[in-house]
Amino acid sequence: MTDKELMELAQKARGKSYSPYSHFRVGAALLTKSGKVYTGCNIENAAFTPTICAERTAIFKAVSEGEKEFEALAIVGGREGETAAFTAPCGVCRQVIAEFCPKDFKILLGDPDQFRSYTLAALFPYSFSGNEFN
Ligand SMILES: [Zn+2]
Repeated sequence: MTDKELMELAQKARGKSYSPYSHFRVGAALLTKSGKVYTGCNIENAAFTPTICAERTAIFKAVSEGEKEFEALAIVGGREGETAAFTAPCGVCRQVIAEFCPKDFKILLGDPDQFRSYTLAALFPYSFSGNEFN
């Protein structure tokens, strides 16, 4: 699986977005260490709070299937009817990514034709780790 292929799967997942309120459509594709890909899209709700982002949809799908080791996450987003624009994960999603992924985890942002690779550490240098409980 190349980075471009993972971006293409995120782009395809973007097509499933349910975003009648923001009209901002996002798709994500999560590559596991075992080579499987879980995709997700943002799913909005009239009450707003139950809305979930594409990244968390993909991660929660994977974890609910027993996967907890991940290689890379591709994210493609943009306004409805427009080509993808550079879309970074929100803070909540960064915290969820940090729950399961190491600091050098690869996150691809952009669109399948033009994207950049970041590490989780670059996008989220300080996270709540759970060690705070000790
Ligand atoms: Zn998010």
